[in-house]
Amino acid sequence: MISRRSIVAAVALFLCVAAGAAPSYAERFAAEQRAIPSPISVLGFNPGDDRTIADWTQITNYFEKLDRASDRVLVQRLGQSTLKRPLIVAFISARENILALEKYKDIQRRLADPRLITQSSERDRLIAQGKVVVAISCSIHSTEIVASQMSMQLAYELATAQDAETREILQNTILLLIPSPNPDGIDIVANWYRKTLSTPYEGKEPPELYHHYAGHDDNRDWFMLNLKETQQLTRLLWHDWFPQIVYDVHQQGSNGSRFFIPPFYDPPNPNIAPLLLRQVGLMGHKMATDVQAAGFKGVLTNALYDTWWHGGFRTAPYFHNSIGILSEAASARLMTPSTVTTEQLARSSTRGMRNATEVTTNFPDPWPGGAWRPRDIMDMEMIASRALLSMAAKFRANYLRNFYELGKKAVEQPSKPNQPLAYLLPAGQALDEAVAKLIASLIDQGVEVYRLDRELHVTFGPQTLQRTNAPNEKLGAYRTVIAQTEMTEVPLGSYIVFLAQPQRTNVAALFEPQIYPNRLTAQGEAERPYDVAGWTLPLQMGVDAPAVTAIRETEAERRLTRITDANQVRKDLALSLAKGDESPIRKPVKHSVRVGIYKGSMGNMDEGWTRYVFDTFNVPYTSAPDAEIRQGALNSKYDVLLFPSQRSSDILNGNAADSLPAEYTGGITEAGVKNLKEFVNSGGTLICFDASCEMAIKQFNLPVRNVLEGVKSSEFYCPGSIVSLDIDNKNLFASNLPTKLPAYFINSSAFSATGDGVRVIARYARENVLLSGWLLGEDKLRGQIALAEVPLGKGRVVLFAFRPQHRGQAWATLPLIWNVLSSTATNSSEE
Ligand SMILES: [Zn+2]
Repeated sequence: MISRRSIVAAVALFLCVAAGAAPSYAERFAAEQRAIPSPISVLGFNPGDDRTIADWTQITNYFEKLDRASDRVLVQRLGQSTLKRPLIVAFISARENILALEKYKDIQRRLADPRLITQSSERDRLIAQGKVVVAISCSIHSTEIVASQMSMQLAYELATAQDAETREILQNTILLLIPSPNPDGIDIVANWYRKTLSTPYEGKEPPELYHHYAGHDDNRDWFMLNLKETQQLTRLLWHDWFPQIVYDVHQQGSNGSRFFIPPFYDPPNPNIAPLLLRQVGLMGHKMATDVQAAGFKGVLTNALYDTWWHGGFRTAPYFHNSIGILSEAASARLMTPSTVTTEQLARSSTRGMRNATEVTTNFPDPWPGGAWRPRDIMDMEMIASRALLSMAAKFRANYLRNFYELGKKAVEQPSKPNQPLAYLLPAGQALDEAVAKLIASLIDQGVEVYRLDRELHVTFGPQTLQRTNAPNEKLGAYRTVIAQTEMTEVPLGSYIVFLAQPQRTNVAALFEPQIYPNRLTAQGEAERPYDVAGWTLPLQMGVDAPAVTAIRETEAERRLTRITDANQVRKDLALSLAKGDESPIRKPVKHSVRVGIYKGSMGNMDEGWTRYVFDTFNVPYTSAPDAEIRQGALNSKYDVLLFPSQRSSDILNGNAADSLPAEYTGGITEAGVKNLKEFVNSGGTLICFDASCEMAIKQFNLPVRNVLEGVKSSEFYCPGSIVSLDIDNKNLFASNLPTKLPAYFINSSAFSATGDGVRVIARYARENVLLSGWLLGEDKLRGQIALAEVPLGKGRVVLFAFRPQHRGQAWATLPLIWNVLSSTATNSSEE
């Protein structure tokens, strides 16, 4: 949605042209250049100056002024952030391109979907006319603050420069500049930075999540689309503009390389087209070369960051036939300079870099250490952005052609026999809420989903992992198999997602189980993946989505309706979650149950995601801070206290004294532990997720032991994978659930009982534990306790060994949370 003011501006320009009264381009430009405000003239400082910071109001205000002053810039307001700040994008291109944005949008739409192009002459014409669309996004991680400041300088220079390279960039590319996809976080950091400036805490990161729900995980949401920000930007990128290149500008820790740029590290995701990996590498090398040529040292490639995982700002493009680029500049202390010693650099190591002082082919010019300023970061990001835009402009036609060809291959690629043609979401699943959410996520990212308006005859079956070596071998070798049915009638009202569509690789990457390769270090320890190893979306959500390998009906015989509006699915399934209704996912939780969600002094993403699912499912709660737990009398406030996953020592101690202002330090302390015991003994329910279980187990001496505690990664490793649970559905907590459920395991726990009184609700499966991802040392997990209730006094402790709400994605296990709460309701009404 274009803001009204921008429309007025655009219309004014059109009128000017139509009237034939416009001055020549050169005259106009010269006049304009005088009038275009520089960042310093608006802010009072140059972006990137030491100890300065522009907040979101200043940033949006600057872009508004630029929009008004420059005909190379058009600012669109996309909508609102989670905390209701405006989310904006600035289109930057030559004036004539800005005036014809709708035309270029249409060209992009056609190139993105080659089925819309019937003749090669039309293809050639579109490639000849089109512009490379580039999206650059700044500071999604708000403490990586410099890029958000840089965005104003980059926009200003592109709006005013007259050199040949800039003109070529403006002619041949359309830049979608996103000053930040997380405006709320920019203000959280700016406010904190200003508050602590010239105090002992200057340059420290704020002790809270910089996204209301997700914190750092705001960049883990790009296929699930739980957050308002990812929803709106995904619409901009993958519904409207289909950028050929997406550049996501980040910062890393302070003591390693100065600047990481692709090529990436291994393993690559097998669904990413080799042509994309090559283009990513080529672009990265151009950026690295230009940064080096400008005299910067410490540029690193081929290290740490990989392309395995799906779900990041720069990884989602790979599954839309686009190039995703990441850069990671070494951080200063927010906007305060820092000093890095040679010793610190020598101690810094990562995958692909033994230490930050050693010369290697991928790190040919180590930085010697010394002062490190925000200006260094900003200069490298500016050079890298220019390098990227310049490449895009120079090889405009190649980028458009490659993009088109990848889409064409995706649409045409024939399916091999007995391999998936499509995935089916059969009608009549008891999980309509999850089906609706899954389909909404798919269509919001541009995946084509169809509803069956007539029965279809298909062969289909679940696509699962099968071990190909003995289960007692530590390293698992797996293959995917489809247990296919005979030709079977599928009822109308089911949904189907075909692989033959421009986003073929996205469909595959979201529906298939992942098999992460066994990667070990020379010492035999597991080599940590950059993020998670498995994410198969229907599995995480507990939705039945079998692969289809053959369809009897010809295309002419099928009656399918393309679903383009997520609300249509909700209507089809007669859902109304917003009214707090009853569904198998969400049994009614009586509003009389008083739930407290522990919120300690440290920002904890798992706490944020817990609030996210409670808010989404309209389950009332209040946040319970350390001070309240320390104070006691908890039964007077709460029936249930829930501790999201957090290390026991962090819960007990919080931020260290003196590390931050006093109000942000300290944990629940021994006093809090005593109060929690009293709370449970007097009838309260204490729920712990994953890591926080240790606090309850050890502090209360529960008859339970985490069998994975202290186990080396050479013996057991499971980093972000989906595993199978055996459920005792005779238990009240699982009464409406199937006997098997997928659960999200991310370096989580597994329990054995060491005494009496432990009521087991779920165990890790006794066979075929791994459903998607990576599991090393399966025998350590098989049959161990995954969910248990331990009665204590008049109350109870409920231990989830895994994360039942992980990143708001693990819908399969959400019912377990609601069931515990609703059974609490039953208990208190009986009393
Ligand atoms: Zn980051």
